[in-house]
Amino acid sequence: MEDCLFCKIIKGEIPSTKVYEDDKVFAFKDINPKAPIHILVVPKKHIDSLAQLTDDDKEYVWAIHEAMNKIAREQGFIEKGYRVVINCGKDSGQEVMHLHYHILAGKKFGGNDTGF
Ligand code: 5GP
Ligand code: ZN
Repeated sequence: MEDCLFCKIIKGEIPSTKVYEDDKVFAFKDINPKAPIHILVVPKKHIDSLAQLTDDDKEYVWAIHEAMNKIAREQGFIEKGYRVVINCGKDSGQEVMHLHYHILAGKKFGGNDTGF
């Protein structure tokens, strides 16, 4: 999508610190980290949010989950654990309308301690 920030990051039109990429998924460091490790994982296809998912998006959803496992293994936090957050819509505080999974790691989280 033309005016989408994360579509521009995927295309390299806006610089980011890439963590992982395959044919369906792009992952990069969050510019304003809310934990020692804060990675955003996005589908290369523009999907506004969880609420807009359709049957056509199934392979992207699976690819994101597979990618998150690879990232957690590669970055060395798979054993200690990590938190995954998805904001959806206004009340959640979703700011960028391109589906993204936040991976937060590198600290021990409390019960309600997402920082969002
Ligand atoms: P949301 O609030 O929509 O769930 O999360 C959007 C996230 O994108 C925020 O954590 C914010 O810090 C991050 N973000 C916003 N603009 C940029 C940017 O230009 N580059 C990067 N790497 N992250 C961004
Ligand atoms: Zn987009």
